[in-house]
Amino acid sequence: MPELPEMEIVARRLGAALPGETIESALAPGINALKTFDPPLHALEGRQFTGVSRRGKLLLLELDDLVVLLHLMSAGRIQLYEKRASLRDRTSRLLLRLPGDRELRVREFGSKQAAWVKVLRAEDVAGDESLAGLGPEAWPDPPPLRELLDAPRPLHTLLRDQQVVTGIGRTWVDEILNVARLSPFKRGDDLSDDEAEALRAAMVSELGRVIDVYEERVDLPLPEKFPKPTRVHAHQGEPCPQCGTVLEAVFYEDYVMTYCPTDQTDGRVLKDRRLSRLLK
Ligand SMILES: [Zn+2]
Repeated sequence: MPELPEMEIVARRLGAALPGETIESALAPGINALKTFDPPLHALEGRQFTGVSRRGKLLLLELDDLVVLLHLMSAGRIQLYEKRASLRDRTSRLLLRLPGDRELRVREFGSKQAAWVKVLRAEDVAGDESLAGLGPEAWPDPPPLRELLDAPRPLHTLLRDQQVVTGIGRTWVDEILNVARLSPFKRGDDLSDDEAEALRAAMVSELGRVIDVYEERVDLPLPEKFPKPTRVHAHQGEPCPQCGTVLEAVFYEDYVMTYCPTDQTDGRVLKDRRLSRLLK
C-alpha cells in the first residue's frame, strides 16, 4: 500500500517530468473512480501541468487553476507511459493523454475499486473534505506528539489515523514503533515526554530513511512494485534490527503487526487477538 514515502517519491518524479506537458484528452474508465462532476473531467483538456505535490498519502496534480486530487488506496498505481492504454484495459481508472502517444495512467489491481480521483478548482482544494480533516504531516517536521496522541487508543491505530497524523500506514508503523522501542498496544495517553520525543524522532528518521532509499533506487518509469526497505514489518522470525531478538507477529483484525518482544513489550509475546476472539 502506498504510504507517505512512496507518494513522496512519486510526487518528486512526476513533479520533475510533468510540468509544461499539455493534456490532450482525459478519460476515467472506472465507473467509481471519479468522485466529482464539476468541473468536468474534460475541463482538463488543453491544460498544462504546473506542478505535482503530495499531502499525506494523496497526490495533487496541479494545472493552473485546476487540481486533480487522487488517492491510490491500497491497490492503485500511477505511471507515465510511453504508449497509450487500450480502452479495454480493465485496470485503468484515469487516463490523462499527453502528446506523442504518451499517457499518465492510474491503474488499480484486485477486485475492489477503491482508488479515487477528484477534479477541483484550485481555490476549493484546501477546503475539500478529504484534505481538510487530515492531521499534520508525519514527515519531515511533525509537531510534538505528546498532545497530538493524547487519547486512550493504542499507538498502532493512532499513528495510522490520518486525522491524527497523516502519511503512515501498516508497513511503516511497525518500523517506527520498533525504532522508538514502543509497544504497538501502548496507549497514546500513556506516553511519557521522553517516549513521545523518541517516537517523533523515530517517525522522522524512519520515513526519511525510506525516502532516501527510494531517492536512490526509484526513477521513471515508476516501478510496479516499490523496493521495500523494511526491517521489521512482515519480518517475523528474523532478528530484530535493534537487538537481535527474534521478531514476533500478532494478528489484529485483518492484518499482522510485527514487533520485538525485548525492545517493545518488556519481553512479553502478545496474544493473538484474532485467535483469542475465535476461542471466546
Ligand atoms: Zn529488539
